[in-house]
Amino acid sequence: MAVYHGPRCRQCRREGVKLMLKGERCKSENCALERRPFPPGMRVSKRRRSSTEYNTQLREKQKIRRIYGVLEKQFALYFGAAAKSSEVTGEKLLQILELRFDNIIYRLGFAPSRSSARQLVLHNHFRVNGKKVNVPSYLVKAGDIISVKEKSKNLELIHSALKNVRDIPEWLSVDKVKLEGSIIRVPERAAIPTNVQEQLVVELYSR
Ligand code: SF4
Repeated sequence: MAVYHGPRCRQCRREGVKLMLKGERCKSENCALERRPFPPGMRVSKRRRSSTEYNTQLREKQKIRRIYGVLEKQFALYFGAAAKSSEVTGEKLLQILELRFDNIIYRLGFAPSRSSARQLVLHNHFRVNGKKVNVPSYLVKAGDIISVKEKSKNLELIHSALKNVRDIPEWLSVDKVKLEGSIIRVPERAAIPTNVQEQLVVELYSR
């Protein structure tokens, strides 16, 4: 299963926005983007990047891909599925990304970041409706119950992530004592707390 293994802060610096890829560090003064708020490889550059329409659309697509930790090919597949659906393409695309198992583990507060959630899923620490699921790209559905595997309930990483979690989206519910969460509904766009312009991706793929 392919995944980006390069420096994550570099991705934020490339996009010029905080993509929040490193959990608590992103909220601290150690955030690389705050210390070096310019693209990698450019020392406080006077060069201006061209901001053509295409470039703007491309950057937004890359931003979304990087936020959710999805590689190009997988992202294109998600877009294809969203475009085929009868729903609004951009919204459907974000819904698919939100329903990925690694994202759900992060949103429920069981992991400090999506990449950490991905590792926990790969190491088989969770169950979906009581069944083993160790595939980060697995898509959950409304009504699914996510639980921490019995043997993993003492895992410090999960407990510290839960302690630091601030907002759980309203379409999810979590029981911090039972270490269990559920998908109340598929989120509509307004309930997805990702600050991106998905319409630009639709325009990019429509070229
Ligand atoms: Fe991005 Fe977080 Fe690194 Fe800051 S600390 S640059 S928000 S990944």
